[in-house]
Amino acid sequence: MARILIAGAGVGGLSTAHRLRRLLPRTEEIVVFDQSPVHTFWPSLLWLMTGTRQAPDVVRPLAQLREAGIRVVQSPITAIVPAEKTLVTADQSWSGDALVIALGADVDSGAIPGLAEVPGNFYTVAGAQAVWQQLHDIEQGRIIVLISRVPFKCPAAPYEAAMLIDGALRKRRRRDAFEIEVWAAEAAPMAVAGPAVSQAVVDALAHRDIRYHPNHTVDRVDYAARQLIFKERQDSVPYDLLAYVPPHCVPPVVTAAGLAPLGGWVAVDRHTLETVYPNVFAIGDVTGIPLALGKPLPKAGVFAYRQGEVVAETIAARLLGRPSAETFDGQGECFIEMGQGVAGFARGNFYAEPTPTIRAYRSGRHWHAGKVAFERQWWARWW
Ligand SMILES: Cc1cc2nc3c(=O)[nH]c(=O)nc-3n(C[C@H](O)[C@H](O)[C@H](O)COP(=O)(O)OP(=O)(O)OC[C@H]3O[C@@H](n4cnc5c(N)ncnc54)[C@H](O)[C@@H]3O)c2cc1C
Repeated sequence: MARILIAGAGVGGLSTAHRLRRLLPRTEEIVVFDQSPVHTFWPSLLWLMTGTRQAPDVVRPLAQLREAGIRVVQSPITAIVPAEKTLVTADQSWSGDALVIALGADVDSGAIPGLAEVPGNFYTVAGAQAVWQQLHDIEQGRIIVLISRVPFKCPAAPYEAAMLIDGALRKRRRRDAFEIEVWAAEAAPMAVAGPAVSQAVVDALAHRDIRYHPNHTVDRVDYAARQLIFKERQDSVPYDLLAYVPPHCVPPVVTAAGLAPLGGWVAVDRHTLETVYPNVFAIGDVTGIPLALGKPLPKAGVFAYRQGEVVAETIAARLLGRPSAETFDGQGECFIEMGQGVAGFARGNFYAEPTPTIRAYRSGRHWHAGKVAFERQWWARWW
């Protein structure tokens, strides 16, 4: 009997586990490990922060995977021994025939002085709820969406957040009482997708009277005074409501395993997702895949999902002694929520050289409907 270990039951881990279950006979064991009892559908947090979803809408219990023939271990992984394809949890050591590391990116508000005191980290369920609570109650003022550091998950998310906040205030007929601004530690939105996509997002912000301040890296936050202090400015920037993207880092257990250089991400073969250790794969946000234009592949669920399918196919083929032709080719797409029931859409090949070839489609209500349908399908497929 073979055993495949999957570290992390996020987008990539679930995609790997379900594809493997379809490809392998029930005699082969698939074990998924996660510190959390629930799977979170992260894109819905943008709707949670603007009041169109409630917290129970964005999570589902992982225990239900057992009904699909997938073993679930709910425990933090405390160590990884890649050379032995072994994971260590609080009370047990687990060895497998293949190991898939899908632990995502950790978020660490504590890396910036004062930031962790601010409740509006919309990259967590509690933080997204906190933004909605404030947005619901506030009557006027300056709302700042802050991108504290790069890289971060879903390059579109903070820009979508700003436009969804704009839409929520227009719905309340209170937009005139607010300034909305995006302050970003990056030079342009979604830069990997190319200048045309960046400009389309900048134009969409301007069209909604959302002021954009790129190239600003926050140094610290004075929570009591509600001020942001940036490295590039002498004066501080006041806010009334702060919604922020926290700094991201590789999970410490991955660094401790020697899989990622200090401050870096896991290196993999960009087509097979295999690490330097045979039959040890890493997928999704935990990886760092350099692109020819000098920036890494963005951290996005669309890539984690597809990479999980490719890795499952490779593992199954090796176990069953048959060839596998599936590789990850860098294709991806994303919806861009713009508020008031409208969204944009972009799709293309992020592995194209010398630069990714991405097509941005004209925004409309149908793309928003597409994103809502995608969320519904996500839950219907597996829960
Ligand atoms: C607000 C928001 C909106 C987004 N919108 C989109 C979108 O529209 N489109 C898109 O493509 N992407 C989007 N993303 C990004 C997408 O959610 C991520 O890129 C995707 O979830 C990455 O999948 P993953 O499997 O690599 O990691 P994750 O889905 O983050 O899963 C990692 C799992 O590992 C577990 N874990 C971590 N450390 C340990 C440990 N030590 N022990 C045990 N378990 C551990 C975690 O609990 C988690 O369940 C969005 C993200 C956010 C935050």
